[in-house]
Amino acid sequence: MDLHIVVSILLDYRQDFWRWIVARTLSKKSREIAERRIYDKGVFGQRTWLQQNHCMVCERANPAVNWLHYCSDTPASQRWISHCRKWPCRASALYSMVADYRQDQVYVLREPLGIDSEINIPRSNGTVSKGMFRQGCVIKKHGKWYVSAEWTKGGDSYTKLVPLIYYTQDDPKLMFNDL
Ligand SMILES: [Zn+2]
Repeated sequence: MDLHIVVSILLDYRQDFWRWIVARTLSKKSREIAERRIYDKGVFGQRTWLQQNHCMVCERANPAVNWLHYCSDTPASQRWISHCRKWPCRASALYSMVADYRQDQVYVLREPLGIDSEINIPRSNGTVSKGMFRQGCVIKKHGKWYVSAEWTKGGDSYTKLVPLIYYTQDDPKLMFNDL
């Protein structure tokens, strides 16, 4: 059977999200076909004024929306996108979050970095502090990858970007490489 038909059956017969994932993972070609569908990649997550029972993607009333929580926001600053459960809205919400982060050079990961959550953070004075890093993403600056490291001292918290290569030689596995 023609691959276009297979992907169409997957995507259009019922719009379950897992069918979208299957369509994207069958083969490179099937992924290209799925990616040619129309998505809204410009829905911005909101921190406040979150409307219940309303899909922020298709802007229709829906009493059963899901909430996409921005995966790498700090606890003080959380964003959300409400979306219908069917894949066109759910995938659009996901694409939008990834696109929104990229505006700030933040790249969402599809797999964790594979390094301990507690890290050694090299300090400019030559010492090393124990700390954590922002999970679920890496930051790109001048063509290089960084993690956003955080540590506390004397009740104050600090952040700095540390080159990823300091922790691993592996390239980060990004969500939607080709976005
Ligand atoms: Zn919707």
